[in-house]
Amino acid sequence: MTISQDSPATAPAANGSTAKAKAPEWIPINEQPLYKPRKLRVVCVGAGYSGLMLAYKYKYQTPMDNFLDLAIYEKNAEVGGTWYENRYPGVACDVPAHIYTFSWEPNPEWTSFYAKGGEIFEYIRRTATKYGLDERVQFNSKVVSSIWDEAAGKWSIKVEQTQADGTTEIIEDAADVLVNGSGILNKWNWPSIPGLHDFKGTLLHSAKWDTNLDWDGKRVGIIGNGSSAIQILPQMQRTASRVVNYVRSPTWVSSPYSADLTPEGKNFQYTDAQKKELRENPEAMLALRRTIEDNFNKFFYSLLNGTPQQKAITELFQKDMRSRLNNDPVLCEKLIPNWAVGCRRLTPGDGYLEALQASNTFVEFQPIVRVTPKGIETTDGRVEELDIIVCATGFDVSFAPHWDVVGRNGVSLAEQWRDDPQAYFGICATNMPNYFIFNGPNCPVGHGSLLAVMEWTAEFVLKWCNKIASEDLRAVTVNAQATAEYNAYTQEFMGRTAWSSGCQSWYKNNKGADGKVTAMYAGSILHYKEILASFRTEDFDLEYNCTKNRFKFMGNGITQLEEAGGDLSFYVTK
Ligand code: NAP
Repeated sequence: MTISQDSPATAPAANGSTAKAKAPEWIPINEQPLYKPRKLRVVCVGAGYSGLMLAYKYKYQTPMDNFLDLAIYEKNAEVGGTWYENRYPGVACDVPAHIYTFSWEPNPEWTSFYAKGGEIFEYIRRTATKYGLDERVQFNSKVVSSIWDEAAGKWSIKVEQTQADGTTEIIEDAADVLVNGSGILNKWNWPSIPGLHDFKGTLLHSAKWDTNLDWDGKRVGIIGNGSSAIQILPQMQRTASRVVNYVRSPTWVSSPYSADLTPEGKNFQYTDAQKKELRENPEAMLALRRTIEDNFNKFFYSLLNGTPQQKAITELFQKDMRSRLNNDPVLCEKLIPNWAVGCRRLTPGDGYLEALQASNTFVEFQPIVRVTPKGIETTDGRVEELDIIVCATGFDVSFAPHWDVVGRNGVSLAEQWRDDPQAYFGICATNMPNYFIFNGPNCPVGHGSLLAVMEWTAEFVLKWCNKIASEDLRAVTVNAQATAEYNAYTQEFMGRTAWSSGCQSWYKNNKGADGKVTAMYAGSILHYKEILASFRTEDFDLEYNCTKNRFKFMGNGITQLEEAGGDLSFYVTK
Protein backbone atom coordinates (compact mmCIF):
# COMPACT_ATOMS: atom_id res chain seq x y z
CA MET A 1 0.00 0.00 0.00
CA THR A 2 1.37 3.46 -0.84
CA ILE A 3 0.42 6.48 1.20
CA SER A 4 0.58 9.86 -0.52
CA GLN A 5 2.80 12.49 1.17
CA ASP A 6 1.83 15.54 -0.86
CA SER A 7 -1.50 16.72 0.60
CA PRO A 8 -1.59 20.35 1.73
CA ALA A 9 -1.43 20.80 5.51
CA THR A 10 -3.93 23.66 5.51
CA ALA A 11 -6.56 25.16 3.19
CA PRO A 12 -8.73 28.28 3.37
CA ALA A 13 -12.16 27.61 4.83
CA ALA A 14 -15.36 29.10 3.32
CA ASN A 15 -15.54 31.85 6.02
CA GLY A 16 -12.02 33.03 5.23
CA SER A 17 -10.32 31.46 8.28
CA THR A 18 -7.67 28.79 7.85
CA ALA A 19 -8.95 25.27 8.69
CA LYS A 20 -6.87 22.12 8.74
CA ALA A 21 -7.49 20.07 5.60
CA LYS A 22 -7.52 16.33 6.02
CA ALA A 23 -4.85 14.24 4.39
CA PRO A 24 -6.12 11.55 2.04
CA GLU A 25 -4.89 9.10 4.67
CA TRP A 26 -7.06 10.68 7.34
CA ILE A 27 -9.40 8.40 9.26
CA PRO A 28 -11.23 9.05 12.52
CA ILE A 29 -9.83 7.63 15.72
CA ASN A 30 -10.71 4.00 16.12
CA GLU A 31 -12.28 3.88 19.56
CA GLN A 32 -10.73 0.68 20.83
CA PRO A 33 -7.40 -0.28 22.38
CA LEU A 34 -4.28 -1.19 20.42
CA TYR A 35 -4.34 -4.53 18.56
CA LYS A 36 -7.86 -5.36 19.63
CA PRO A 37 -8.49 -8.45 17.49
CA ARG A 38 -11.49 -8.79 15.27
CA LYS A 39 -13.34 -12.10 15.23
CA LEU A 40 -11.86 -14.52 12.79
CA ARG A 41 -13.30 -17.78 11.53
CA VAL A 42 -10.67 -20.36 10.74
CA VAL A 43 -11.57 -23.59 8.98
CA CYS A 44 -9.15 -26.49 9.00
CA VAL A 45 -9.59 -29.52 6.78
CA GLY A 46 -8.66 -32.77 8.50
CA ALA A 47 -8.42 -33.98 12.10
CA GLY A 48 -5.27 -36.03 11.87
CA TYR A 49 -2.08 -35.13 13.69
CA SER A 50 -1.96 -31.71 11.92
CA GLY A 51 -5.52 -30.57 12.61
CA LEU A 52 -5.37 -31.71 16.22
CA MET A 53 -2.02 -29.97 16.69
CA LEU A 54 -3.64 -26.75 15.49
CA ALA A 55 -6.63 -27.32 17.80
CA TYR A 56 -4.33 -27.79 20.81
CA LYS A 57 -2.20 -24.72 20.12
CA TYR A 58 -5.29 -22.61 19.53
CA LYS A 59 -6.89 -23.74 22.75
CA TYR A 60 -3.99 -24.02 25.18
CA GLN A 61 -0.71 -22.59 24.02
CA THR A 62 -1.52 -19.43 22.16
CA PRO A 63 -4.50 -19.27 23.24
CA MET A 64 -6.85 -17.61 20.79
CA ASP A 65 -10.25 -19.01 21.56
CA ASN A 66 -11.45 -15.55 22.68
CA PHE A 67 -11.43 -14.14 19.15
CA LEU A 68 -10.72 -17.03 16.84
CA ASP A 69 -13.50 -19.40 15.94
CA LEU A 70 -11.98 -22.69 14.77
CA ALA A 71 -13.92 -25.36 12.89
CA ILE A 72 -12.34 -28.60 11.72
CA TYR A 73 -14.04 -30.69 9.05
CA GLU A 74 -13.04 -34.34 9.00
CA LYS A 75 -14.24 -36.69 6.28
CA ASN A 76 -13.92 -39.78 8.48
CA ALA A 77 -16.01 -40.75 11.50
CA GLU A 78 -12.98 -40.46 13.79
CA VAL A 79 -9.84 -38.41 14.37
CA GLY A 80 -6.48 -39.87 13.39
CA GLY A 81 -6.20 -39.38 9.63
CA THR A 82 -3.71 -41.81 8.15
CA TRP A 83 -3.63 -43.81 11.38
CA TYR A 84 -7.40 -44.26 11.26
CA GLU A 85 -7.38 -45.23 7.59
CA ASN A 86 -4.37 -47.51 7.23
CA ARG A 87 -5.30 -50.96 8.54
CA TYR A 88 -3.06 -53.25 6.50
CA PRO A 89 -1.28 -56.11 8.28
CA GLY A 90 1.93 -54.92 9.88
CA VAL A 91 1.00 -51.23 9.69
CA ALA A 92 3.40 -49.41 11.97
CA CYS A 93 5.38 -46.22 12.15
CA ASP A 94 8.91 -46.30 10.81
CA VAL A 95 9.88 -43.44 13.14
CA PRO A 96 10.47 -44.17 16.85
CA ALA A 97 7.23 -43.81 18.80
CA HIS A 98 8.66 -41.42 21.39
CA ILE A 99 9.32 -38.79 18.72
CA TYR A 100 6.11 -39.55 16.85
CA THR A 101 4.21 -38.05 19.78
CA PHE A 102 2.66 -34.66 20.51
CA SER A 103 5.45 -32.81 22.39
CA TRP A 104 2.92 -31.74 25.03
CA GLU A 105 1.63 -35.27 25.62
CA PRO A 106 4.58 -37.62 26.09
CA ASN A 107 3.46 -41.22 26.25
CA PRO A 108 5.35 -43.52 28.63
CA GLU A 109 3.03 -46.36 27.62
CA TRP A 110 4.39 -46.95 24.10
CA THR A 111 4.78 -50.70 23.97
CA SER A 112 7.63 -50.76 21.45
CA PHE A 113 10.34 -48.61 19.92
CA TYR A 114 8.44 -48.46 16.61
CA ALA A 115 4.72 -48.43 17.44
CA LYS A 116 2.02 -50.32 15.59
CA GLY A 117 -0.61 -48.33 13.68
CA GLY A 118 -3.48 -49.31 16.00
CA GLU A 119 -1.58 -48.13 19.05
CA ILE A 120 -0.80 -44.78 17.40
CA PHE A 121 -4.47 -44.35 16.49
CA GLU A 122 -5.53 -45.08 20.08
CA TYR A 123 -2.95 -42.56 21.36
CA ILE A 124 -4.29 -39.85 19.02
CA ARG A 125 -7.90 -40.59 19.94
CA ARG A 126 -7.15 -40.68 23.68
CA THR A 127 -5.25 -37.39 23.48
CA ALA A 128 -8.01 -35.67 21.49
CA THR A 129 -10.55 -36.71 24.13
CA LYS A 130 -8.32 -35.78 27.07
CA TYR A 131 -7.80 -32.23 25.82
CA GLY A 132 -11.20 -31.78 24.17
CA LEU A 133 -9.52 -31.28 20.80
CA ASP A 134 -12.41 -32.98 19.04
CA GLU A 135 -14.89 -30.37 20.36
CA ARG A 136 -14.24 -28.34 17.25
CA VAL A 137 -14.36 -31.25 14.83
CA GLN A 138 -17.34 -32.04 12.63
CA PHE A 139 -17.01 -35.66 11.54
CA ASN A 140 -18.25 -37.32 8.34
CA SER A 141 -17.75 -33.93 6.73
CA LYS A 142 -15.86 -33.83 3.47
CA VAL A 143 -14.87 -30.44 2.10
CA VAL A 144 -15.76 -30.46 -1.60
CA SER A 145 -14.91 -26.91 -2.61
CA SER A 146 -13.39 -23.70 -1.30
CA ILE A 147 -13.49 -20.58 -3.41
CA TRP A 148 -11.93 -17.24 -2.49
CA ASP A 149 -14.64 -14.57 -2.43
CA GLU A 150 -12.79 -11.34 -3.23
CA ALA A 151 -15.65 -9.04 -2.28
CA ALA A 152 -16.10 -10.64 1.12
CA GLY A 153 -12.41 -11.37 1.72
CA LYS A 154 -13.35 -14.89 2.77
CA TRP A 155 -13.22 -18.48 1.59
CA SER A 156 -16.65 -19.82 0.59
CA ILE A 157 -16.60 -23.46 1.55
CA LYS A 158 -18.92 -26.33 0.68
CA VAL A 159 -18.90 -29.42 2.84
CA GLU A 160 -20.61 -32.72 2.12
CA GLN A 161 -21.88 -34.17 5.38
CA THR A 162 -22.96 -37.78 5.68
CA GLN A 163 -25.81 -38.40 8.09
CA ALA A 164 -26.30 -41.44 10.30
CA ASP A 165 -28.75 -42.92 7.75
CA GLY A 166 -26.15 -42.62 4.98
CA THR A 167 -27.76 -39.67 3.22
CA THR A 168 -25.61 -36.68 2.40
CA GLU A 169 -26.22 -32.97 2.42
CA ILE A 170 -24.09 -30.02 1.40
CA ILE A 171 -23.59 -27.31 3.99
CA GLU A 172 -21.90 -23.97 3.41
CA ASP A 173 -19.39 -22.11 5.51
CA ALA A 174 -17.30 -18.98 5.12
CA ALA A 175 -13.81 -18.66 6.59
CA ASP A 176 -11.38 -15.78 6.95
CA VAL A 177 -8.55 -18.31 7.00
CA LEU A 178 -8.44 -21.78 5.45
CA VAL A 179 -5.96 -24.40 6.64
CA ASN A 180 -5.29 -27.60 4.74
CA GLY A 181 -4.40 -30.35 7.22
CA SER A 182 -5.59 -33.12 4.94
CA GLY A 183 -2.23 -34.82 4.47
CA ILE A 184 -0.36 -35.91 1.40
CA LEU A 185 -0.22 -39.70 1.71
CA ASN A 186 -3.91 -40.49 1.67
CA LYS A 187 -5.11 -40.07 -1.90
CA TRP A 188 -4.41 -43.65 -2.91
CA ASN A 189 -4.35 -44.73 -6.52
CA TRP A 190 -4.81 -47.96 -8.40
CA PRO A 191 -1.66 -48.50 -10.46
CA SER A 192 -2.11 -48.18 -14.20
CA ILE A 193 -1.56 -51.84 -15.07
CA PRO A 194 -3.57 -53.23 -18.01
CA GLY A 195 -6.29 -55.67 -16.97
CA LEU A 196 -6.01 -54.85 -13.25
CA HIS A 197 -9.76 -54.84 -12.73
CA ASP A 198 -10.30 -58.04 -14.76
CA PHE A 199 -8.75 -60.01 -11.92
CA LYS A 200 -11.28 -62.50 -10.59
CA GLY A 201 -9.60 -62.99 -7.20
CA THR A 202 -9.39 -60.39 -4.43
CA LEU A 203 -7.80 -57.10 -5.43
CA LEU A 204 -6.97 -54.54 -2.78
CA HIS A 205 -4.82 -51.52 -2.09
CA SER A 206 -2.65 -51.19 1.00
CA ALA A 207 -4.39 -47.93 1.93
CA LYS A 208 -7.91 -49.39 1.60
CA TRP A 209 -7.49 -52.66 3.43
CA ASP A 210 -10.31 -55.12 4.05
CA THR A 211 -9.74 -56.13 7.67
CA ASN A 212 -11.82 -59.30 7.08
CA LEU A 213 -9.37 -60.53 4.46
CA ASP A 214 -8.15 -64.06 5.18
CA TRP A 215 -4.96 -65.01 3.33
CA ASP A 216 -4.20 -68.27 5.15
CA GLY A 217 -3.15 -70.86 2.59
CA LYS A 218 -3.75 -68.40 -0.28
CA ARG A 219 -1.49 -67.36 -3.16
CA VAL A 220 -0.71 -63.67 -2.76
CA GLY A 221 0.91 -61.18 -5.14
CA ILE A 222 2.26 -57.98 -3.58
CA ILE A 223 3.10 -55.20 -6.03
CA GLY A 224 5.74 -52.73 -4.85
CA ASN A 225 8.53 -52.51 -2.30
CA GLY A 226 7.87 -49.14 -0.65
CA SER A 227 7.32 -48.74 3.09
CA SER A 228 3.84 -50.29 2.92
CA ALA A 229 4.83 -53.46 1.05
CA ILE A 230 7.88 -53.88 3.27
CA GLN A 231 5.59 -53.94 6.32
CA ILE A 232 2.86 -56.09 4.74
CA LEU A 233 4.97 -58.86 3.22
CA PRO A 234 6.44 -60.45 6.36
CA GLN A 235 2.95 -60.60 7.89
CA MET A 236 1.27 -62.28 4.92
CA GLN A 237 4.20 -64.58 4.20
CA ARG A 238 3.75 -66.34 7.54
CA THR A 239 0.51 -68.04 6.62
CA ALA A 240 0.03 -67.58 2.88
CA SER A 241 0.79 -70.65 0.74
CA ARG A 242 2.89 -68.51 -1.63
CA VAL A 243 3.84 -64.85 -1.80
CA VAL A 244 5.20 -63.20 -4.93
CA ASN A 245 6.67 -59.73 -4.51
CA TYR A 246 6.78 -57.67 -7.71
CA VAL A 247 9.80 -55.39 -7.39
CA ARG A 248 10.90 -52.95 -10.05
CA SER A 249 13.40 -50.81 -8.10
CA PRO A 250 16.05 -51.47 -5.44
CA THR A 251 15.56 -49.95 -2.00
CA TRP A 252 17.52 -49.44 1.18
CA VAL A 253 16.12 -51.53 4.00
CA SER A 254 17.69 -50.13 7.04
CA SER A 255 17.67 -52.22 10.14
CA PRO A 256 20.73 -50.43 11.58
CA TYR A 257 18.81 -47.13 11.32
CA SER A 258 18.93 -45.75 14.90
CA ALA A 259 21.17 -48.71 15.70
CA ASP A 260 22.58 -47.10 18.80
CA LEU A 261 19.04 -46.83 20.17
CA THR A 262 17.86 -50.32 19.28
CA PRO A 263 19.60 -53.48 20.43
CA GLU A 264 20.62 -55.50 17.32
CA GLY A 265 19.24 -52.66 15.19
CA LYS A 266 15.72 -54.05 15.49
CA ASN A 267 12.42 -53.03 16.95
CA PHE A 268 11.95 -54.07 20.58
CA GLN A 269 9.26 -54.04 23.27
CA TYR A 270 9.62 -51.75 26.27
CA THR A 271 9.52 -53.83 29.46
CA ASP A 272 7.03 -53.08 32.25
CA ALA A 273 9.94 -51.81 34.34
CA GLN A 274 11.05 -49.40 31.59
CA LYS A 275 7.51 -48.07 31.15
CA LYS A 276 7.13 -47.66 34.91
CA GLU A 277 10.36 -45.67 35.02
CA LEU A 278 9.20 -43.41 32.17
CA ARG A 279 5.79 -42.99 33.84
CA GLU A 280 7.19 -42.12 37.24
CA ASN A 281 10.30 -40.22 36.30
CA PRO A 282 9.55 -37.31 33.93
CA GLU A 283 13.26 -36.53 33.69
CA ALA A 284 13.98 -40.01 32.35
CA MET A 285 11.09 -39.62 29.91
CA LEU A 286 12.44 -36.28 28.70
CA ALA A 287 15.99 -37.61 28.43
CA LEU A 288 14.85 -40.51 26.26
CA ARG A 289 12.86 -38.27 23.94
CA ARG A 290 15.75 -35.83 23.64
CA THR A 291 18.22 -38.63 22.88
CA ILE A 292 16.07 -39.95 20.04
CA GLU A 293 15.36 -36.46 18.70
CA ASP A 294 19.08 -35.60 18.80
CA ASN A 295 19.93 -38.82 17.00
CA PHE A 296 17.40 -38.13 14.28
CA ASN A 297 18.54 -34.56 13.79
CA LYS A 298 22.16 -35.72 13.41
CA PHE A 299 21.01 -38.11 10.68
CA PHE A 300 20.54 -35.10 8.39
CA TYR A 301 24.31 -35.07 7.72
CA SER A 302 24.00 -38.59 6.27
CA LEU A 303 21.67 -37.17 3.63
CA LEU A 304 24.26 -34.68 2.37
CA ASN A 305 26.41 -35.93 -0.48
CA GLY A 306 30.07 -36.40 0.24
CA THR A 307 29.89 -36.23 4.03
CA PRO A 308 31.77 -38.78 6.17
CA GLN A 309 28.41 -39.61 7.76
CA GLN A 310 26.98 -40.51 4.35
CA LYS A 311 29.97 -42.71 3.55
CA ALA A 312 29.74 -44.48 6.90
CA ILE A 313 26.01 -45.14 6.69
CA THR A 314 26.27 -46.42 3.13
CA GLU A 315 28.92 -48.94 4.13
CA LEU A 316 26.92 -49.97 7.18
CA PHE A 317 23.70 -50.48 5.22
CA GLN A 318 25.45 -52.34 2.39
CA LYS A 319 27.06 -54.70 4.85
CA ASP A 320 23.84 -55.25 6.75
CA MET A 321 21.72 -55.87 3.65
CA ARG A 322 24.30 -58.29 2.23
CA SER A 323 24.38 -60.17 5.48
CA ARG A 324 20.58 -60.28 5.83
CA LEU A 325 20.31 -61.44 2.22
CA ASN A 326 22.89 -64.16 2.95
CA ASN A 327 24.99 -62.74 0.10
CA ASP A 328 22.49 -64.11 -2.42
CA PRO A 329 23.99 -62.72 -5.66
CA VAL A 330 20.69 -62.06 -7.44
CA LEU A 331 18.91 -60.50 -4.47
CA CYS A 332 21.96 -58.38 -3.56
CA GLU A 333 22.39 -57.14 -7.11
CA LYS A 334 18.72 -56.32 -7.59
CA LEU A 335 17.83 -55.00 -4.15
CA ILE A 336 20.87 -53.04 -2.93
CA PRO A 337 20.72 -49.58 -4.49
CA ASN A 338 23.61 -47.75 -6.09
CA TRP A 339 22.00 -44.43 -5.22
CA ALA A 340 22.39 -42.75 -1.85
CA VAL A 341 20.82 -43.88 1.41
CA GLY A 342 17.63 -41.88 2.01
CA CYS A 343 16.99 -41.07 -1.68
CA ARG A 344 13.75 -43.00 -1.20
CA ARG A 345 11.99 -43.19 2.13
CA LEU A 346 13.98 -45.34 4.54
CA THR A 347 12.24 -48.04 6.45
CA PRO A 348 13.53 -50.27 9.23
CA GLY A 349 11.93 -53.19 7.41
CA ASP A 350 11.95 -55.66 10.27
CA GLY A 351 11.75 -59.17 8.83
CA TYR A 352 11.28 -58.10 5.19
CA LEU A 353 14.59 -59.26 3.74
CA GLU A 354 14.34 -62.48 5.73
CA ALA A 355 10.77 -63.11 4.51
CA LEU A 356 11.89 -62.61 0.90
CA GLN A 357 14.12 -65.67 1.31
CA ALA A 358 11.46 -67.92 2.83
CA SER A 359 10.60 -71.04 0.85
CA ASN A 360 7.08 -69.78 0.08
CA THR A 361 8.27 -66.38 -1.24
CA PHE A 362 9.36 -65.50 -4.74
CA VAL A 363 10.73 -62.11 -5.76
CA GLU A 364 9.69 -61.25 -9.29
CA PHE A 365 12.00 -58.70 -10.90
CA GLN A 366 10.50 -59.12 -14.38
CA PRO A 367 8.27 -56.14 -15.15
CA ILE A 368 4.52 -56.70 -15.08
CA VAL A 369 2.86 -56.76 -18.51
CA ARG A 370 -0.75 -57.16 -17.42
CA VAL A 371 -3.09 -58.60 -14.89
CA THR A 372 -5.24 -61.46 -16.20
CA PRO A 373 -8.42 -62.83 -14.64
CA LYS A 374 -6.26 -65.49 -12.93
CA GLY A 375 -3.09 -63.65 -11.94
CA ILE A 376 -0.17 -61.51 -13.11
CA GLU A 377 1.74 -61.86 -16.38
CA THR A 378 5.34 -60.66 -16.60
CA THR A 379 7.49 -59.76 -19.62
CA ASP A 380 8.98 -63.27 -19.76
CA GLY A 381 5.49 -64.53 -20.65
CA ARG A 382 4.98 -66.28 -17.29
CA VAL A 383 1.57 -66.00 -15.63
CA GLU A 384 1.59 -66.34 -11.86
CA GLU A 385 -1.79 -67.61 -10.71
CA LEU A 386 -2.96 -65.79 -7.61
CA ASP A 387 -5.89 -65.61 -5.18
CA ILE A 388 -5.10 -62.13 -3.86
CA ILE A 389 -3.33 -59.13 -5.40
CA VAL A 390 -2.16 -56.41 -3.02
CA CYS A 391 -1.32 -53.10 -4.68
CA ALA A 392 1.14 -51.48 -2.27
CA THR A 393 1.71 -48.97 -5.01
CA GLY A 394 1.50 -45.68 -3.19
CA PHE A 395 -0.42 -42.46 -3.48
CA ASP A 396 -1.18 -39.46 -5.65
CA VAL A 397 1.64 -37.25 -4.40
CA SER A 398 1.08 -34.36 -6.79
CA PHE A 399 0.06 -32.06 -3.88
CA ALA A 400 -3.14 -31.22 -5.76
CA PRO A 401 -5.71 -30.70 -3.00
CA HIS A 402 -8.45 -33.31 -2.64
CA TRP A 403 -11.12 -30.73 -3.33
CA ASP A 404 -11.47 -27.63 -5.53
CA VAL A 405 -9.33 -24.83 -4.13
CA VAL A 406 -9.91 -21.73 -6.23
CA GLY A 407 -8.03 -18.63 -5.16
CA ARG A 408 -7.67 -15.08 -6.41
CA ASN A 409 -8.86 -14.31 -9.97
CA GLY A 410 -10.32 -17.80 -10.30
CA VAL A 411 -6.92 -19.53 -10.17
CA SER A 412 -7.28 -23.22 -9.34
CA LEU A 413 -4.54 -24.53 -7.07
CA ALA A 414 -4.65 -27.94 -8.77
CA GLU A 415 -4.10 -26.22 -12.11
CA GLN A 416 -1.36 -23.93 -10.73
CA TRP A 417 0.46 -26.97 -9.36
CA ARG A 418 -0.32 -29.41 -12.18
CA ASP A 419 3.21 -29.58 -13.59
CA ASP A 420 5.20 -28.04 -10.81
CA PRO A 421 3.94 -27.69 -7.21
CA GLN A 422 5.69 -24.66 -5.72
CA ALA A 423 4.93 -23.55 -2.19
CA TYR A 424 6.56 -21.17 0.25
CA PHE A 425 8.22 -23.27 2.99
CA GLY A 426 5.61 -25.92 2.21
CA ILE A 427 2.91 -23.75 3.80
CA CYS A 428 1.67 -21.02 1.45
CA ALA A 429 0.90 -20.77 -2.25
CA THR A 430 0.74 -17.78 -4.57
CA ASN A 431 -2.75 -16.57 -5.53
CA MET A 432 -4.19 -18.23 -2.42
CA PRO A 433 -4.93 -15.51 0.16
CA ASN A 434 -5.26 -16.54 3.82
CA TYR A 435 -4.51 -20.17 2.91
CA PHE A 436 -2.05 -22.37 4.81
CA ILE A 437 -1.00 -25.98 4.32
CA PHE A 438 0.51 -28.58 6.62
CA ASN A 439 3.20 -30.68 4.91
CA GLY A 440 2.92 -29.05 1.50
CA PRO A 441 5.54 -29.08 -1.29
CA ASN A 442 9.20 -28.87 -0.27
CA CYS A 443 8.91 -28.96 3.48
CA PRO A 444 10.67 -31.42 5.80
CA VAL A 445 8.63 -34.62 5.64
CA GLY A 446 11.43 -37.13 5.36
CA HIS A 447 13.96 -36.40 8.07
CA GLY A 448 13.73 -35.42 11.72
CA SER A 449 10.50 -35.50 13.69
CA LEU A 450 7.41 -34.78 11.60
CA LEU A 451 5.46 -33.96 14.73
CA ALA A 452 7.93 -31.19 15.56
CA VAL A 453 7.57 -29.83 12.03
CA MET A 454 3.77 -29.86 12.37
CA GLU A 455 4.01 -28.05 15.69
CA TRP A 456 6.14 -25.27 14.21
CA THR A 457 3.79 -25.03 11.25
CA ALA A 458 0.78 -24.68 13.57
CA GLU A 459 2.60 -21.89 15.44
CA PHE A 460 3.35 -20.12 12.15
CA VAL A 461 -0.29 -20.37 11.02
CA LEU A 462 -1.59 -19.06 14.34
CA LYS A 463 0.90 -16.19 14.28
CA TRP A 464 -0.62 -15.18 10.98
CA CYS A 465 -4.15 -15.55 12.38
CA ASN A 466 -3.17 -13.30 15.25
CA LYS A 467 -1.68 -10.69 12.94
CA ILE A 468 -4.65 -10.79 10.57
CA ALA A 469 -7.09 -10.35 13.45
CA SER A 470 -5.20 -7.77 15.51
CA GLU A 471 -4.00 -5.56 12.65
CA ASP A 472 -7.29 -5.87 10.79
CA LEU A 473 -5.73 -7.44 7.73
CA ARG A 474 -8.11 -8.50 5.04
CA ALA A 475 -5.81 -10.79 3.10
CA VAL A 476 -2.24 -12.01 3.26
CA THR A 477 -0.83 -13.71 0.20
CA VAL A 478 2.66 -14.99 -0.30
CA ASN A 479 4.51 -12.87 -2.82
CA ALA A 480 5.08 -14.53 -6.20
CA GLN A 481 8.68 -13.38 -6.48
CA ALA A 482 9.51 -14.58 -2.96
CA THR A 483 8.00 -17.95 -3.80
CA ALA A 484 9.98 -18.20 -7.03
CA GLU A 485 13.21 -17.31 -5.22
CA TYR A 486 12.48 -19.81 -2.43
CA ASN A 487 11.92 -22.57 -4.97
CA ALA A 488 14.98 -21.75 -7.07
CA TYR A 489 17.18 -21.81 -3.97
CA THR A 490 15.55 -25.02 -2.77
CA GLN A 491 16.21 -26.82 -6.03
CA GLU A 492 19.83 -25.66 -6.09
CA PHE A 493 20.27 -27.19 -2.64
CA MET A 494 18.61 -30.45 -3.66
CA GLY A 495 21.59 -31.14 -5.92
CA ARG A 496 23.74 -31.75 -2.87
CA THR A 497 21.36 -34.17 -1.17
CA ALA A 498 20.67 -37.88 -1.29
CA TRP A 499 17.18 -37.18 -2.66
CA SER A 500 18.58 -36.25 -6.08
CA SER A 501 20.89 -39.22 -6.31
CA GLY A 502 19.09 -41.07 -9.08
CA CYS A 503 16.24 -43.05 -7.54
CA GLN A 504 12.58 -43.16 -8.50
CA SER A 505 10.57 -42.00 -5.50
CA TRP A 506 7.43 -40.31 -4.30
CA TYR A 507 9.66 -37.47 -3.08
CA LYS A 508 9.88 -36.63 -6.81
CA ASN A 509 6.18 -37.09 -7.47
CA ASN A 510 7.10 -40.49 -8.97
CA LYS A 511 8.37 -38.66 -12.07
CA GLY A 512 11.44 -40.79 -12.64
CA ALA A 513 15.00 -40.88 -11.39
CA ASP A 514 15.78 -37.38 -12.69
CA GLY A 515 12.49 -35.85 -11.57
CA LYS A 516 12.37 -32.66 -9.54
CA VAL A 517 12.37 -33.19 -5.77
CA THR A 518 8.98 -31.79 -4.77
CA ALA A 519 8.57 -33.17 -1.27
CA MET A 520 11.72 -32.38 0.68
CA TYR A 521 13.12 -29.28 2.36
CA ALA A 522 16.45 -27.59 1.66
CA GLY A 523 17.84 -28.00 5.14
CA SER A 524 17.53 -29.69 8.48
CA ILE A 525 14.37 -29.40 10.53
CA LEU A 526 16.20 -27.04 12.89
CA HIS A 527 16.94 -24.84 9.88
CA TYR A 528 13.22 -24.92 9.04
CA LYS A 529 12.26 -24.06 12.63
CA GLU A 530 14.59 -21.08 12.77
CA ILE A 531 13.32 -19.55 9.53
CA LEU A 532 9.65 -20.08 10.38
CA ALA A 533 10.17 -18.54 13.82
CA SER A 534 11.69 -15.42 12.21
CA PHE A 535 8.22 -14.85 10.68
CA ARG A 536 9.25 -13.16 7.46
CA THR A 537 6.20 -11.02 6.76
CA GLU A 538 8.28 -9.22 4.12
CA ASP A 539 7.65 -12.20 1.84
CA PHE A 540 3.91 -11.51 1.83
CA ASP A 541 1.56 -9.02 0.19
CA LEU A 542 -0.63 -7.50 2.87
CA GLU A 543 -4.02 -5.91 2.33
CA TYR A 544 -5.84 -4.07 5.11
CA ASN A 545 -9.56 -3.73 5.63
CA CYS A 546 -9.00 -0.01 6.06
CA THR A 547 -7.51 0.87 2.68
CA LYS A 548 -6.80 4.49 3.62
CA ASN A 549 -4.69 3.91 6.67
CA ARG A 550 -3.00 0.73 7.84
CA PHE A 551 -2.56 2.12 11.36
CA LYS A 552 -6.21 2.00 12.28
CA PHE A 553 -5.28 -0.79 14.69
CA MET A 554 -3.43 1.81 16.85
CA GLY A 555 -6.87 2.60 18.27
CA ASN A 556 -7.49 5.08 21.06
CA GLY A 557 -3.98 5.30 22.47
CA ILE A 558 -4.19 2.72 25.20
CA THR A 559 -3.33 -0.93 25.30
CA GLN A 560 -5.63 -3.83 26.05
CA LEU A 561 -3.75 -4.34 29.31
CA GLU A 562 -4.58 -0.84 30.45
CA GLU A 563 -8.19 -1.19 29.41
CA ALA A 564 -8.46 -4.43 31.38
CA GLY A 565 -6.92 -2.80 34.48
CA GLY A 566 -3.85 -5.04 34.42
CA ASP A 567 -0.46 -4.63 36.07
CA LEU A 568 0.86 -1.34 34.68
CA SER A 569 4.41 -1.85 35.90
CA PHE A 570 4.86 -5.40 34.67
CA TYR A 571 8.06 -4.47 32.81
CA VAL A 572 9.90 -3.52 36.00
CA THR A 573 11.21 -6.86 37.17
CA LYS A 574 14.45 -6.16 39.08
P1 NAP B 1 5.59 -45.86 -2.28
O1 NAP B 1 6.72 -45.57 -1.40
O2 NAP B 1 5.20 -44.83 -3.27
O3 NAP B 1 5.89 -47.23 -3.00
C1 NAP B 1 5.10 -47.70 -4.05
C2 NAP B 1 5.71 -48.96 -4.59
O4 NAP B 1 4.86 -49.47 -5.61
C3 NAP B 1 7.07 -48.74 -5.22
O5 NAP B 1 7.86 -49.86 -4.97
C4 NAP B 1 6.73 -48.62 -6.71
O6 NAP B 1 7.78 -48.99 -7.53
C5 NAP B 1 5.61 -49.63 -6.81
N1 NAP B 1 4.73 -49.39 -7.94
C6 NAP B 1 3.93 -48.31 -8.12
N2 NAP B 1 3.25 -48.45 -9.28
C7 NAP B 1 3.64 -49.64 -9.83
C8 NAP B 1 3.31 -50.33 -11.01
N3 NAP B 1 2.43 -49.83 -11.87
N4 NAP B 1 3.91 -51.51 -11.25
C9 NAP B 1 4.80 -52.01 -10.36
N5 NAP B 1 5.16 -51.41 -9.23
C10 NAP B 1 4.57 -50.22 -8.96
O7 NAP B 1 4.24 -46.17 -1.44
P2 NAP B 1 4.08 -46.76 0.03
O8 NAP B 1 4.91 -47.97 0.21
O9 NAP B 1 2.63 -46.88 0.29
O10 NAP B 1 4.70 -45.66 0.94
C11 NAP B 1 4.43 -44.28 0.72
C12 NAP B 1 4.89 -43.48 1.90
O11 NAP B 1 3.93 -43.59 2.92
C13 NAP B 1 6.18 -43.92 2.55
O12 NAP B 1 7.31 -43.50 1.88
C14 NAP B 1 6.04 -43.27 3.89
O13 NAP B 1 6.37 -41.92 3.83
C15 NAP B 1 4.57 -43.45 4.14
N6 NAP B 1 4.38 -44.66 4.91
C16 NAP B 1 4.81 -44.60 6.16
C17 NAP B 1 4.71 -45.69 6.91
C18 NAP B 1 5.20 -45.56 8.28
O14 NAP B 1 5.59 -46.52 8.84
N7 NAP B 1 5.20 -44.35 8.87
C19 NAP B 1 4.21 -46.88 6.43
C20 NAP B 1 3.76 -46.92 5.15
C21 NAP B 1 3.87 -45.79 4.38
P3 NAP B 1 8.89 -47.90 -7.99
O15 NAP B 1 9.64 -47.57 -6.76
O16 NAP B 1 9.69 -48.59 -9.00
O17 NAP B 1 8.12 -46.74 -8.50
